[in-house]
Amino acid sequence: MKNSKSSDLFDIAKTLMPGGVSSPVRAIKPYPFYTAHARGSHLTTVDGASLLDCCMAYGPLILGHASPQVRQAVEAQLDHGWLYGTPSPLEPEFAKMITGDHPGMDMVRFVSSGSEATMAAIRLARGFTGKRDIVKIEGGFHGAHDAVLVKAGSGATTMGVPDSAGVLADLVKHTRQIAYNDPEALEALLTAHTDVAALIIEPVLGNIGPVLPENNYLRDVRKITKAHDVLLIFDEVITGYRLGIGGAQVMYGIRPDLTTLGKIVGGGLPIGAFGGRQEIMQLIAPQGPVYQAGTFSGNPLSLTAGIATLRYLHAHRTLYNDLAEQTRALEESLIPQENGSFVRLGSMFKYFFRNKPPKNYREVKECDTGAFGRFWKRMLDCGIFLPPSQFETNFISSAHSDQDLTTLSQAYTQCR
Ligand SMILES: *Cc1c(COP(=O)(O)O)cnc(C)c1O
Repeated sequence: MKNSKSSDLFDIAKTLMPGGVSSPVRAIKPYPFYTAHARGSHLTTVDGASLLDCCMAYGPLILGHASPQVRQAVEAQLDHGWLYGTPSPLEPEFAKMITGDHPGMDMVRFVSSGSEATMAAIRLARGFTGKRDIVKIEGGFHGAHDAVLVKAGSGATTMGVPDSAGVLADLVKHTRQIAYNDPEALEALLTAHTDVAALIIEPVLGNIGPVLPENNYLRDVRKITKAHDVLLIFDEVITGYRLGIGGAQVMYGIRPDLTTLGKIVGGGLPIGAFGGRQEIMQLIAPQGPVYQAGTFSGNPLSLTAGIATLRYLHAHRTLYNDLAEQTRALEESLIPQENGSFVRLGSMFKYFFRNKPPKNYREVKECDTGAFGRFWKRMLDCGIFLPPSQFETNFISSAHSDQDLTTLSQAYTQCR
């Protein structure tokens, strides 16, 4: 592997780009493999290796790489242009689909990334309530902007910088932290602090996990936030259309005040969206005083890819059961080990190097990351690409065959 094309490319990239990459988790040591092309459930590297992909670009690709449905729709749209700077008919069409699927979304605004969506949702919550602070869950990840880069999951935890340099202490003192699965702590915090505009939460912690909500936790969160007049923001950038149509809010029967989406709703192209109750959303400019804007917002290519994906998911609803069945069978095929635990929900899963499934950020950090690192490398040698961190969720897609899952299961057993 030494004089590989990947290592040569990384040597050049390192001199031109910080860490050699465009996003931190990709900086695999000693060097990342470079992808030449991808299709279905597999990536092909520039050095010719074919890898079974269980990272799936960190979540968006529920229909697999280069899915024919998305490809055909995008190709047809290319003939009509890819950026207008004016409204297009795709917007009301897509907005109707998304609001129809989410009980918590009467109206929606399209943006270009999940980070943008959460940033705007937090601003909107402050604008609506006139209150100052926000509460986030320890280990929750809501993108890479200032207000939420405190005890953040994803790459921030992997790289050991959950609290970013360059973020003003004056600003993040308005971001309060609370442990996941601890409704009493939330109740105590909101009783002690009355100036809280919103709680932002990944209903299922996807950026250090998956870490699953305990019985009734989300119901309690809804009750407590309502009682304290605090808006509940469900960050469903991962869970939206991943857990099913309508995401976690439908699965768990909770109606948040605001919802953020991204990843799957772009069908693999850049996107974000936020929405919520009408009385809140109508404060967004130009209807109201909370400003939000973007050159690429609602761009026709992302919307086309999103519409094609959602249409497919609507027409093939059994796909969610099939994916859940595949991860269930995977779990069943694994021999329980003392130093590990397997967690799954639908098409999300993870092998934690901890004897019991973690239920919050503190417990996730108890995982043996050294053991994970060795396991990850052995899996790669076996032709399996897992997200390169103990703290990132594995995903499968509708392009993953039962044979792929058998291959994965054998690798788990033999390479562990
Ligand atoms: C990925 C993610 C984001 C950020 O989305 P980007 O498109 O990467 O900006 C926000 N929230 C959650 C829950 C995510 O998983």
